Amino acid sequence: MKIKALKGFKDILPGEVELWQILENTARTVFEQYNFHEIRVPVLEETALFQRAIGDTTDIVEKEMYTFVDKKQTLRPEGTASVLRSVIENGLLVQKPVQRLFTIGPMFRHERPQKGRLRQFHQLDIEVLGSKSPLLDTELISLAAMLFSELGIHVSLELNSLGCPKCRPAYREALLAFINERKDKLCSDCQRRSETNPLRVLDCKVPADRELMADAPSIQEWLCEECGDHFNAVQQGLERLGIPFRLNKFMVRGLDYYCRTTFEFITSDLGAQAAVAAGGRYDGLAELLGGPAGTPGIGFAMGMERIILLMQQSEKDFQESVEPLDIYIAGLGDKGQKEASRLAWELRQDGFSVGLDYEGRSLKAQMKLANRENASFVFIIGDEELATGKGVLRNMRDRDAEQMELELKAEAFYFLDDLL
Ligand code: ATP
Ligand code: MG
Repeated sequence: MKIKALKGFKDILPGEVELWQILENTARTVFEQYNFHEIRVPVLEETALFQRAIGDTTDIVEKEMYTFVDKKQTLRPEGTASVLRSVIENGLLVQKPVQRLFTIGPMFRHERPQKGRLRQFHQLDIEVLGSKSPLLDTELISLAAMLFSELGIHVSLELNSLGCPKCRPAYREALLAFINERKDKLCSDCQRRSETNPLRVLDCKVPADRELMADAPSIQEWLCEECGDHFNAVQQGLERLGIPFRLNKFMVRGLDYYCRTTFEFITSDLGAQAAVAAGGRYDGLAELLGGPAGTPGIGFAMGMERIILLMQQSEKDFQESVEPLDIYIAGLGDKGQKEASRLAWELRQDGFSVGLDYEGRSLKAQMKLANRENASFVFIIGDEELATGKGVLRNMRDRDAEQMELELKAEAFYFLDDLL
């Protein structure tokens, strides 16, 4: 029997991977413009890390984690907890009191696979530790907005505040009172949530529940003075930068660690999988994980699969940014192939990308291959070229261009640098 990839685990094949590389390169450029530094953390961590950071009553911890039960280890379902663990363990905040970090890589969640939802998926993850300024919240949101605009993707921004341990409990009570008045009409999940994590009832996707909760009290009206000021400052900051947003009192995010600002970038172009990026403040989390007391933090994650789907739908032509092969050398016959492989070695050392073939194919077949590899130039080495020590360089992009005779050595190709 053939062995196939696991359900929800997907290969990213040549032809498709170029789009991933464009996404990664664009993201790295933007992260650099925003003065972020890369951190790479393991994909496997102690289960307790995610239980403590994400929260026991969240969807992720309750039902989505890949856990080795015997070893008490879990494949990371998200990046924040691991990045914080690493920052604390390595004392990075002692070296630099504000850490601006990004990480890119796979995450694992055992959920029902569908379009834009996988079991191994990828995130671009941004985390900042050590600053509580609302200007930072605005800056992070602007970073995401800039990346989306670079990628030619249209998304809209939703904003909420979850308050803090000072003001949230009173809101929770008010919300609970509202929920309890209609509890028997809510779905069974929400009835359970109302006891464990009532804010998550606001997040329910069941249409009937959404209707029942439409007039629920808004946390935005229960914020304490500090949280209210912070929330206003973030909104004013976004207005200053001209970044449009919509307030959404229902957006509570599924993770326990958030406080104050939460935000999501959503799209209407992907059916049910609407969120492309999501994040928020987590001021208490570093301390909860054993870090210095009072260390504020904020971060967000972008789902790369969903961004790729949007890039495929975007009007922007990404094919243009795919690097073609510089030169394809068609070696004919045994000696021709050997000379081709020697010239390729020289040209590659000079920085050119070079393709060739060892299967002794005909010139016609090799020209076809060169075309398929999207080579900019082709250089043929057959008996005549071997005899004269010269060959003709064909310009594949501009067929009318003058054909040039070149010696079979790398120096002869130097001028190509300007043409490529
Ligand atoms: P959703 O509501 O779609 O389940 P989430 O709230 O669980 O998303 P987060 O944990 O905030 O998502 O992760 C941030 C981003 O990662 C999401 O906005 C989404 O783009 C992406 N993402 C999350 N889960 C998956 C998945 N299983 N497959 C692909 N992308 C995902
Ligand atoms: Mg989810």
